[in-house]
Amino acid sequence: MNPVIAIHGGAGTITRASLSGEQETAYHAALEEVLRGGQEVLERGGSALDAVTEAVFRLEECPLFNAGKGAVFTHAGTHELDASIMDGRTLAAGAVAGVRTLRNPILAARRVMEDGRHVLLAGEGAEAFARACGLKTVSPGHYFTQARHAQWQRALAEGRTDLLDHDAQALAADMKIGTVGAVALDARGNLAAATSTGGVTDKRVGRVGDSPLIGAGCYANNRTVAVSCTGTGETFIRLLAAYDVSALMEYRGLPLAEACRVVVMEKQPAIGGLGGLIAVDAQGNTCLPFNSEGMYRGEARAGGPRSTAIYR
Ligand code: ASP
Repeated sequence: MNPVIAIHGGAGTITRASLSGEQETAYHAALEEVLRGGQEVLERGGSALDAVTEAVFRLEECPLFNAGKGAVFTHAGTHELDASIMDGRTLAAGAVAGVRTLRNPILAARRVMEDGRHVLLAGEGAEAFARACGLKTVSPGHYFTQARHAQWQRALAEGRTDLLDHDAQALAADMKIGTVGAVALDARGNLAAATSTGGVTDKRVGRVGDSPLIGAGCYANNRTVAVSCTGTGETFIRLLAAYDVSALMEYRGLPLAEACRVVVMEKQPAIGGLGGLIAVDAQGNTCLPFNSEGMYRGEARAGGPRSTAIYR
């Protein structure tokens, strides 16, 4: 198997006109650096699981994206983060939802998976578990970025709720930053997927999106595909979008690109959803479709060049 990794940094109304040259360069550089981290894991013979963990960890640390540092604000001006991870080899999975003090929710999701007793821990229980595992906690100020704060203020002023990170109709040009994810295939033929997010701007306190829900925003199965979604979470939940890509491949025998097209270009728009996903199948084919104006994304094979892209 030729190992491969793909990443996303969120989808939305991202147009050339909405990003300055400087911002564009910063996004490409950030995506490239994240890809390099995941690619290096795969080149060292590391697992797909380690590669997606490394990539999403780096995306959480980067303030440009809506996960970890840089997470969006809830209606109450707080931050509630969601993350999940899945191992395509064993179908083991772990997730955390609505966490407020964890520096890297993806590491907590990974610990939940490794612990094996549960799949999804929420709120204070998730935080207590992560603390007991020795994971880093932060004060709420850690997640703060001026751009996100301004975005939230604007959402409040406009009375708009549940904004996607990159919705240019509602957000100023300098505020487009997004949810993150990674999918990978390693040299042993194992698939893995990981997703992490701050959710949607001005969301109700307690709202949980698709990102920590296995089968909705994240899914991996060695028989078929690894998938990470970004966009209107509620529609991914209703469609079980990530799992649906796998099911279309497994039960209808669709090739990767066609399965992704059905979910992203037909089913999601049909119920008013916006967004995209990244996917890698068991043969190492990749597909990064989106029905929005843009999606921060990139992919790289072990030993190969790294490519990053933003627009259609
Ligand atoms: N899917 C995420 C959520 O609904 C948001 C996003 O991908 O931008 O929480």
